Amino acid sequence: MTNNKYKILLVEDEANIRNFVETMLENADYQVVLAENGEMAKLMYSSYHPDLIILDLGLPDMDGMTVLDDLRRESSIPVIVLSARMDERDKVLALDHGANDYVTKPFGNAELLARIRSTLRNNRTSSSGRRPGAKFVVGDLVIDYDARQVTISGQRVKLTQTEYNIVALLSEHCGKMMTYSAIIKGIWGYQDEGSVKRLQVNMANIRRKFGVKPGAPKYIINELGVGYRMEGDRENG
Ligand code: CA
Repeated sequence: MTNNKYKILLVEDEANIRNFVETMLENADYQVVLAENGEMAKLMYSSYHPDLIILDLGLPDMDGMTVLDDLRRESSIPVIVLSARMDERDKVLALDHGANDYVTKPFGNAELLARIRSTLRNNRTSSSGRRPGAKFVVGDLVIDYDARQVTISGQRVKLTQTEYNIVALLSEHCGKMMTYSAIIKGIWGYQDEGSVKRLQVNMANIRRKFGVKPGAPKYIINELGVGYRMEGDRENG
């Protein structure tokens, strides 16, 4: 039984938060390994081969970003960054350095657990590749990858090639906040001065065609200054 549990390495120097999160994770049936600084984190990582790492950025011996960079040199293990001091730039930086997601302190149990589930699921599906005939479903929205078509309540949504490519890319990373630059790289392959504007114009058109009113997030969540996240579960179909 116990060896079927996901193993999570929790890197956090504050004992209060460490104990609180450890208890929460154990109650949610995860196996927990603890580290209270960056050196210990690297040691625990190589000794215990966890399935996911929750990484506090403010560590006593080194910046959590350094730990993240070191990890990324050898591994694509899912990392959720935990930090009290996150403005948009910090979030973008963490994501562009390879973090899968972030949670800002103070956070609720439900929020962290949801991010963990989504990150583990996303990691599992993206490594297995897209199956032929696969469809993505979120609510009444369906993406048929083979036909390159999007329907809402059975009605075809007429998207341009670029708009479709953006929607498909976000759906393949659903549950994960994708930064503007990650999306731009995925769609256009390069980034120039007009890229962010071009992306935003395309996104505005997509949301209009999806029938989403400005400021009312549905299907695709926009975090201003950071990026976009598509909700849903691409294991459907
Ligand atoms: Ca800290």
